[in-house]
Amino acid sequence: MQRSIDELESIVRDRICRVCSDRTASGECGLEEPSSCALFHLFPQVAQAIQSVRSDDICDYIDAIRGEVCSVCEQQNAQGSCEARQQVRCSLDAYLLLVVDAIEEATGKKFNRKDLSQGAGGSGRVRPHFRL
Ligand code: SF4
Ligand code: SF4
Repeated sequence: MQRSIDELESIVRDRICRVCSDRTASGECGLEEPSSCALFHLFPQVAQAIQSVRSDDICDYIDAIRGEVCSVCEQQNAQGSCEARQQVRCSLDAYLLLVVDAIEEATGKKFNRKDLSQGAGGSGRVRPHFRL
């Protein structure tokens, strides 16, 4: 199913912001600069990266995100490390599994959850064990 970037962003915002630990009690984004949220600041690249993968292995999605999103994100340094990622402050990284799930569901793809590792960018801000 084809979806526009705007449609996908709206679906992902609805799914992720409601569980994001940076959301305030009144339902607003609690970041000092909400537009700096890497998930939505770079959403076209995020959607492109996720849709370019056809795999049941979440690691393939992580590779795509690192290659297509982190590589152009101002938070990542020349050595390829990212303080926001290390401190679990990047919503894209922290909620990657939910983001993948939302986009796959919206575009009619199936994601084989049984092959996923526990804590793989899951519903909480838990550092996945396979983090690069
Ligand atoms: S940090 Fe990002 S994901 Fe979290 S509430 Fe703000 S805009 Fe939504
Ligand atoms: S993990 Fe770091 S480099 Fe990658 S999108 Fe998030 S903030 Fe940007």
